[in-house]
Amino acid sequence: MSVRVRFAPSPTGRLHVGGLRTALYNYLFAKHCNGRIILRIEDTDRTRLVENAQENLLNSLSWAGIKFDEGPGIGGEYGPYIQSERLDIYSKYAAELIANGKAYYAFDSAEELAEMRQRQQDDGENPKYARSSMKNQFTLGSEKTQELIAAGASYVVRLNVPAAVDVSFCDVIRGNITVGTNEIDDQILMKSDGFPTYHLANVVDDHLMKITHVIRGEEWLPSTPKHVLLYDGFGWEKPGFAHLPLLLNEKKAKLSKRHGDVAVEDFIQKGYFKEAFVNFIALLGWNPTGNREIYSIGELIEFFNLEKVNKGGAIFDTRKLDWTNSQYMKTTPVGELTGLLAPLLKEKGIDCNSSYIERVIELFRERVRFVHEIPDTASYMFDPPKAYEEKYYIKHWKEDTLQIIRPLIELLRNADEFTYSLTKEYAETQGLKLRDVVHPLRLMITGQSTGAGMFETMEVLGKEECLSRMDSFIERLANSDLKFEAD
Ligand code: GLU
Repeated sequence: MSVRVRFAPSPTGRLHVGGLRTALYNYLFAKHCNGRIILRIEDTDRTRLVENAQENLLNSLSWAGIKFDEGPGIGGEYGPYIQSERLDIYSKYAAELIANGKAYYAFDSAEELAEMRQRQQDDGENPKYARSSMKNQFTLGSEKTQELIAAGASYVVRLNVPAAVDVSFCDVIRGNITVGTNEIDDQILMKSDGFPTYHLANVVDDHLMKITHVIRGEEWLPSTPKHVLLYDGFGWEKPGFAHLPLLLNEKKAKLSKRHGDVAVEDFIQKGYFKEAFVNFIALLGWNPTGNREIYSIGELIEFFNLEKVNKGGAIFDTRKLDWTNSQYMKTTPVGELTGLLAPLLKEKGIDCNSSYIERVIELFRERVRFVHEIPDTASYMFDPPKAYEEKYYIKHWKEDTLQIIRPLIELLRNADEFTYSLTKEYAETQGLKLRDVVHPLRLMITGQSTGAGMFETMEVLGKEECLSRMDSFIERLANSDLKFEAD
């Protein structure tokens, strides 16, 4: 049997990083097994719909490189893949359950249900539909039930949970799970607005779409026994289940909006490489080797194994995410980085050609975590320093420095280009250490104590630019016109 999995988001907001992890694990599993991954939009809870959420989900998934084999806009044999377009199907299956005694009609008003809950709370009981004391097919009888329906009374359809039996299923990550039906509520399957609930629509669709493995977040684990009852009620074969561990923040609490960014879109805007982000997300709860952190998408597909996913919550560590991004900063082809950096420079009014940008990137790619850090970190590659780091000046510009540096500048002026050996030779003949001349050079040319290797920096800036910066430094020094900045 060929593997078919699905990602089934509800369009209730922007795609959460946990949602992306679920989509990604489904994708990796499908690709690993040469199977198919289906996108299904679960929009039956009309009260929670958010405008543009579907578009945001699709954009974020496509940014991450997750491509679906079937779904809205793509088509497929078992569609439509938007649940609100399949209402007739769910009504038909709800009717089948009623006819087989696996579901029943209930007519309770919102007030009656609220009173029931209050009573249960007062008596210290768990909230659960109190079938025998409420208004439903069992308490009213079939005739009265049909009468009410014919008269247009508002009703829901509830799952007829059998008393005192065990419901069992096997979860690939968590092993065998058994829950007694006394703990399972008579779940609403069809709401009074004619829409199915998540539970009915989800099970019907997973069956009709021939889903072989349901891979979803741990928060859906309590729903699974109800789903098992539905599969059994219909007489359908169950898919395999895998419930993925929760995502936690650095304080080990559930990852939530209140504690920072959780939408994939936020991370796109922050400038993460999609490859780095996907790599990081893939390792939230799983690591194929345990001793590596960087995997290409091809490797993730090759190694993916549901059995090896952890049960315990996975920590979303933004420092690790930034570190992962910095690793991709080192290896992403320079042409790609240039394509990202050029518009950022343009925005800042910096005009330079792409071969110069490439050389700056090569100088700085090991020193930054993000492309967008380059314009600031490497600002002196695009503009001469306006001010000089004060502490650095005090430390490295002594009384005799000018005397030492002047002849070196002239030597450099007459050479074809700046070289390490020329500078080193000069230092040696003066009985100086190389660093005694390199620091003043760095100060004059960049104004800063930190940066890329000085000789590589000078090579990229070019002889003319370096000389002009050094001349200007000396002139400003002579005119007592040097400006300083605290570091
Ligand atoms: N619509 C559910 C959600 O929003 C899907 C859960 C499932 O995969 O069964 O996550």
